[in-house]
Amino acid sequence: MTFNDTALMLGNQGRPFSFSKLDVAKTCGFKYTKKYIERVKPTDLVDGSAALVGTIVHSILEDGVKVFLGSTTVPTPAEVLGVVDRLSSYHIGRSPVTSLEKEKVALLLGNVAILLNRFLKAIIEHKAKVYLEAPAAIDQYLNPMSFDDPKSFFRGKIDMVVVYPNGAVEVIDHKTSRVFDGQTSASLLQKYQDQLRAYEILVYHGLRKKILHEHGIEIKAVRTGLAYVVIADLIKTPKPTTLDVLSKETTEWFVDWVNKLSDRAQEGSVNRASHCKWCEYKTACGSRVGKGRKIKAVAL
Ligand code: SF4
Repeated sequence: MTFNDTALMLGNQGRPFSFSKLDVAKTCGFKYTKKYIERVKPTDLVDGSAALVGTIVHSILEDGVKVFLGSTTVPTPAEVLGVVDRLSSYHIGRSPVTSLEKEKVALLLGNVAILLNRFLKAIIEHKAKVYLEAPAAIDQYLNPMSFDDPKSFFRGKIDMVVVYPNGAVEVIDHKTSRVFDGQTSASLLQKYQDQLRAYEILVYHGLRKKILHEHGIEIKAVRTGLAYVVIADLIKTPKPTTLDVLSKETTEWFVDWVNKLSDRAQEGSVNRASHCKWCEYKTACGSRVGKGRKIKAVAL
């Protein structure tokens, strides 16, 4: 199974695919065309308040892991909370936040500390190796590449990759978005299943050799999960994906997924849906969905 001509054309222009790019193709081919092919400047500004809060919380979580990475004993919850508070002041001090956004960050700090405690216990007790914001890339033949190599075909930075001495690997994506009534662990995993599978591909094809070279650990299986800050929970897939599955079914799924989304991207067809509300290209496509107080035109 190989990538089709459209995928090879779109992914090989010195602008590699990423999960977020292909996710745009899934939601709207028109937006993909404007944003990534024609490189048209967006004309509608989307309210970035939630994104700013999410970025700050994300940074606190990531830096919190870094602070304790060299520790040989698991920190107490009070120690972790102290570090979270300090990191919160640091990141808030560096960002243009309103008092409401500051309050929203403050409300999530207890949950960040709970997640950090859970991460650190597993990492320190098992003497695991950790990669944060791990850059991973592959070429069109699925060979590992350097993240900045213009010949890479698909790449991504993964929030956290935890490598255990026995070869088990956990791939964690941090989520700071809301959870709605009725959403369950299973439905959240389903919602992000494409992203988690794409990350499995990046780890298996893009990072396997690096992990072996740097730590002498052969990957035996990969398990993915979502670290959901608003519910202070780490939701893992029911079972790890074995190397057999990664090298066959998951790889075949990946090629098929990239091919299909590349076709959608090239078709460029408009797909009006709920996500139009948060789109920066609504003027370009003529959508009136979500035109309101939260959106304002960008002065050109
Ligand atoms: S507003 Fe909706 S239909 Fe228009 S480009 Fe954006 S996502 Fe596509």
